[in-house]
Amino acid sequence: MHVVIVGAGFGGLACAKALGLRPLRVTVVDRVNYHLFVPLLYQVATAALSPSDIAEPIRRILRRYENVEVRLGEVTGVDWQAKRVLLGEGPALDYDRLVIATGSVYNYFGHDEWARYAPGLRNLENARAVRAQVLRALEEAEAGADADRRRALMTTIVVGGGPTGVETAGAVAELTRHALARDFRRIDPQEARVVLVEAGPRLLPAFPPHLGAYAEARLAKLGVEVLLDRAVEHVGPDGVTVSGERIGASAVIWGAGIRAAPAAEWLGLSGDRLGRIAVTPDLSVPERPGVYVIGDMALLAGADGAPLPALAQVAKQQGIYLGTALAREVARGEAPAPFRFHNRGNTAIIGRSAAVFDFGRYQLTGRLAWLLWAFVHVYLLVGFQKRVLVSIQWLWRYLTYERGARLIMDPVPAMPPPAPSRGSRARGPAPASGRRSRR
Ligand SMILES: Cc1cc2nc3c(=O)[nH]c(=O)nc-3n(C[C@H](O)[C@H](O)[C@H](O)COP(=O)(O)OP(=O)(O)OC[C@H]3O[C@@H](n4cnc5c(N)ncnc54)[C@H](O)[C@@H]3O)c2cc1C
Repeated sequence: MHVVIVGAGFGGLACAKALGLRPLRVTVVDRVNYHLFVPLLYQVATAALSPSDIAEPIRRILRRYENVEVRLGEVTGVDWQAKRVLLGEGPALDYDRLVIATGSVYNYFGHDEWARYAPGLRNLENARAVRAQVLRALEEAEAGADADRRRALMTTIVVGGGPTGVETAGAVAELTRHALARDFRRIDPQEARVVLVEAGPRLLPAFPPHLGAYAEARLAKLGVEVLLDRAVEHVGPDGVTVSGERIGASAVIWGAGIRAAPAAEWLGLSGDRLGRIAVTPDLSVPERPGVYVIGDMALLAGADGAPLPALAQVAKQQGIYLGTALAREVARGEAPAPFRFHNRGNTAIIGRSAAVFDFGRYQLTGRLAWLLWAFVHVYLLVGFQKRVLVSIQWLWRYLTYERGARLIMDPVPAMPPPAPSRGSRARGPAPASGRRSRR
């Protein structure tokens, strides 16, 4: 049996590992060659961690499973009747079982044109771009600007009061208002403004109200201005309009909602309003034989009847479940018991030494919650080496407020074509034109 898994995120990787060293062939396809620990992306955007701290090569993670192959490539479609996965480049892949685990993208609620000015933190490119934008604006303010321009340069807006927005706003405030305080001569980092905009009446709507109130108070302590019940009406190159008020800003970070990656159409399905594909409790897609969907892409009700949330722990548990079920099917022809999600707790961090944890029946806030958050996230980071490195960096940052990854990195300029050397003159134009055609 050949299982093709599209996406090596939390769900796809867990599924591949569960299928590792079993008597079947597995191919994992991803458009990038690394697994990304998405929950810590905001730490890359705020210069606390480097991109390589939260990304691990997929081949390295899966190298001990000899029955698992990795293919770098963009999946562009599925011929579900012929059971083939279509790739942008290279031959299609035939499958017996297909697992779609392509995750989600940010939802701009009908205003996709805002994405250009308000990137969401979904990949390393976004995180690096946000980091460069915030740091470059501070450099420009330091170089001298009139009062209005300086105020805009020193303002960052975060849209969305869920865990991503809360974590990002807290981290940006720590970076711009505290960590950089000693490094600038002309600007006062205390003038840096971080505004968190939420359309609903409170922060962290998926958590109990008192945790939202705690997050709001902690953010205020860090200097974040929280605007509740205020909707973003426009986003442009130099700021946003919020409930009729224009706020100039150098960076706008979007964290206001997600929708599934555009994969439903591969199967000739329309998906729900968030693009998710409805699956049965064994995670298979009705009327698409041999196709399964897991993680952020899947629409499945939990024990309370509400759709399971888009969380790494859901994706991971579904990946383990499905991998184990497919292996059992091959070994013993057994049909699996329905998938059941076990909630390990919801969490969000609010800057240095504060976090909230919601375990359902009881909750935790403050330093203890922060320590638990740090422990859990370090534990979940893929490689042992990374666990050690990240732990040391966090401890150092905690003690010093330092931010080690403050690099403004623009795309590397293209290399000019090499001047033809005397011996190669006759073949000179060929490499140059070949290079152009690849760009
Ligand atoms: C900023 C942020 C913070 C978060 N924090 C938390 C948290 O603290 N705790 C938590 O539980 N959850 C958190 N989440 C949610 C969590 O990251 C997701 O629920 C989880 O990543 C979903 O896993 P997945 O396997 O469905 O998809 P992903 O992990 O997103 O992986 C999808 C993979 O598919 C690949 N892919 C997509 N399309 C294609 C294609 N066409 N061809 C080839 N490859 C493709 C991508 O490159 C990627 O590797 C956070 C999310 C964000 C954005």
